[in-house]
Amino acid sequence: MPDATTTIAMLRDAVRRFNDQRHWEPYHSPKNLAMGLACEAAEVMEHFLWLDCGPSREWVRDPKNLAAVAEEVADVAVHLMNLTNALGLDLSDAIALKMVKNAIKYPAPESGEIKA
Ligand SMILES: [Mg+2]
Repeated sequence: MPDATTTIAMLRDAVRRFNDQRHWEPYHSPKNLAMGLACEAAEVMEHFLWLDCGPSREWVRDPKNLAAVAEEVADVAVHLMNLTNALGLDLSDAIALKMVKNAIKYPAPESGEIKA
């Protein structure tokens, strides 16, 4: 299921079916899913704990390390799909709205201007 041919709706449906087959809905309160999302994000961060910025870029060039990070990134995405499903949020709309706010908050620099 590569990104180029997989929609967010397809991922949300796959995650929903997986959960339905296991009868996990009672455990998927917004509170539990938000906490799970944060825990999985921490598992991504754990791979980079104590590495400086440069070495962290080197570390992910090892396919074994990158695969380990990909597994945790997938956990984050699954929890995000679960949370948006539970809340009835349209993730694409939420991202689009937030990007508009981000563009106002962080305007692109004029040509040649460098911002830190
Ligand atoms: Mg995990």
